[in-house]
Amino acid sequence: SFDVSRPWLQRKLAREKRAVLRAVDDVSFAIPRGTTLSLVGESGCGKSTVARLSVGLYPPSGGEIRFEGQPLSAARAQPALRRRMNMIFQDPYASLNPRWRVRDIVAEPIRAFGLLRTRADIAARVGQLLMQVGLSPADGEKFPHEFSGGQRQRISIARALSSEPEFLVCDEPTSALDVSVQAQILNLMRDLQARLGLTYLFISHNLAVVRHVSDRLGVMYLGRIVEIGPVEAIFRTPHHPYTRMLLDAIPDLEMAGRARIPVGGEVPSPIDPPSGCPFHPRCPLANARCREEKPGHTRVQAPEGPVLAACHAVEEGRAQP
Ligand code: SF4
Repeated sequence: SFDVSRPWLQRKLAREKRAVLRAVDDVSFAIPRGTTLSLVGESGCGKSTVARLSVGLYPPSGGEIRFEGQPLSAARAQPALRRRMNMIFQDPYASLNPRWRVRDIVAEPIRAFGLLRTRADIAARVGQLLMQVGLSPADGEKFPHEFSGGQRQRISIARALSSEPEFLVCDEPTSALDVSVQAQILNLMRDLQARLGLTYLFISHNLAVVRHVSDRLGVMYLGRIVEIGPVEAIFRTPHHPYTRMLLDAIPDLEMAGRARIPVGGEVPSPIDPPSGCPFHPRCPLANARCREEKPGHTRVQAPEGPVLAACHAVEEGRAQP
């Protein structure tokens, strides 16, 4: 038994409750080799948790994550598997060690995984990686503070590529950058994907950005994927009311004749999520069933492939105007 009147214990219990309730739930997807899946949603929806789970930064408390058929838990014990996946973070200012020269930042994974032994080989590889991301080998002698935000993100990408990964998780890689620089980094990432056959899990809160880099799109709300399918199918005909609300918030987006769902309400606290469908307090299509019963995923066939939407209105055929 616990004496919950003690403040430190109340804080501990609140932390533990938050940790459980903020965890992602019922999230299932596969990313075919050489393609990009993007996950979007508002802050606190669980997309960054999925990003970190996907590269094994921490283990899931339930379920399983597989990389080419092998459980990701094996990657922690197998450097050969671990080096095949890497992560690019949102903030290139915080993710680069300010006291290291760029050449050492980029070389660190090469040394850590023992990919090359001699100084000359490592220096040549670092020069090659810097050129691959649009920098020059001479930039390797400089420190991170000597570069702009976009150039620092290029350094982060060179470092991420230095372990020769096949799978990259990109957690909001352009959201700290100016709009014009964002486009350059997105183009670079698409170019690298085409040249190196990379597979991306792309995390963003910006639907307009993900449209240009994704093959498939997953929309997250309060720790759950509420809609997932081919990106163009979702942009053309979003099924879940939350996806429609997010798309309607993009200025100048072609509405294809459908009614606009007004943006409204705040994301509820994940500590005490709503009953039934967690989106019901904000949803204009909510009814009594929505308030009581959590919806399963309904499959809708689009020309580009199947779309899954977790919504009673989709299942009942009353989601589209
Ligand atoms: Fe709205 Fe109901 Fe669909 Fe939830 S299940 S999104 S409340 S219509």
